[in-house]
Amino acid sequence: MRTEKIRVRMLAGLLAAGLVLSLPAGGALALGEGTFTEETVNSDALAQDQNVQDAKEKKEALQKELDALNQQLANIQGDKKEAEETKAALEKQKNLITQQISALISTISDAEEAVAQKEEDIQRTQQAIEEKEAEIDEQWDAFKDQMAAMQMLNDTGYVAMLANVNSLYQLLTFSNTMQEISQQDTEILDNMKAQKEELNEQKAQLDKEKQELEAAKQELESQKSELDAKSGELAQNISATNQEISDAQAKEQAQQQVVDAKQKEYNQAEQEYENAVRAALSNAQGNDTSNDFTSSLFVWPLPGYHEITTYFGETQDINGYIKSGHKGIDVRTAGASPAIHAAAGGTVTVSTYSSSYGNYVLIYHGQDADGNGYATLYAHMSSRAVSEGETVSADQTIGYVGSTGLSTGMHLHFEVRVNGNPANPFNYFS
Ligand SMILES: [Zn+2]
Repeated sequence: MRTEKIRVRMLAGLLAAGLVLSLPAGGALALGEGTFTEETVNSDALAQDQNVQDAKEKKEALQKELDALNQQLANIQGDKKEAEETKAALEKQKNLITQQISALISTISDAEEAVAQKEEDIQRTQQAIEEKEAEIDEQWDAFKDQMAAMQMLNDTGYVAMLANVNSLYQLLTFSNTMQEISQQDTEILDNMKAQKEELNEQKAQLDKEKQELEAAKQELESQKSELDAKSGELAQNISATNQEISDAQAKEQAQQQVVDAKQKEYNQAEQEYENAVRAALSNAQGNDTSNDFTSSLFVWPLPGYHEITTYFGETQDINGYIKSGHKGIDVRTAGASPAIHAAAGGTVTVSTYSSSYGNYVLIYHGQDADGNGYATLYAHMSSRAVSEGETVSADQTIGYVGSTGLSTGMHLHFEVRVNGNPANPFNYFS
């Protein structure tokens, strides 16, 4: 086909001279050893038409601008998503710390209870010590009284007593008894003192334990205040991230408006280009635009594949790039690259590559009885099988499913356009 096209280009002069008008519609003209079809004539007519070329240039310039704006929008959306992820991570961290703090609060309260218990024990021991001291004092008083009585005997009554002692044995016994009494008292006192000593030791042990508990409690409290500080810091970071997110949202909104305005401009240019193409083709072919298209007779463009991943009007997330108001339907092919069929007969008015649609084809089908113009669009193709100006019939292969342009997997993005505006394809299949 390529060599034929080149030959046809060399015949441009002849064609411009009006030869093309004499071609039978849809027919093929024998020329030398090769043949060329109406499609090549159409392509040539388009290449020569200044209006078509101007409209094409304008459309392509706008497409570039739109691509750049969309890229900026995607960057902003990426920043926003990143900030949202950061925020989620910070919140997770903060929740973890909040849990740790509440565990510490309960441990601290346990420690407080233990300290209070220890204080009670200390108080009880202190009371026992005081009681023991009172007992010792009492015993000491009794002992002193006894000693005083004995002293009195020694000082005054000893001689009188001696007078009553009949024998040395009696005297010795008396003396022993006195000694025994004093010894017993001393033992009792010693015993009490030992008990008091033991209580003092107990109290000292309790004091030490209480001090340890308080130190542990203090350590817990300092851990808690560290965590409180960390939690406060995280709260600050979260609010800073919230600010980032809302800044990105504002930027996104502003950018979306710019994109929408540019998209409108582009759609207009695309429509103008299509009009120019149609005008050039009808000049070249002498076609009249009869209003005989029946829009309800579209055939399914991807026989055997019916898994719709995105319906008309839905919002898409393409690698973090959020696009609302899906202009067509996405038909998934699960990695396969089947042929794409024209949904109806018509003229290929666009067959090109764009950064968003990838390889795509737009076919103009004609007008219905009400004067509404219909076109279908097929995007993200791995390759295109038709060129601009070519006439296609319903069900003809126009390209192959791919994932070119802004796409995340093998699928056909299929649009129906009525008077240039996207419409739900499911309203038009036969
Ligand atoms: Zn799509």
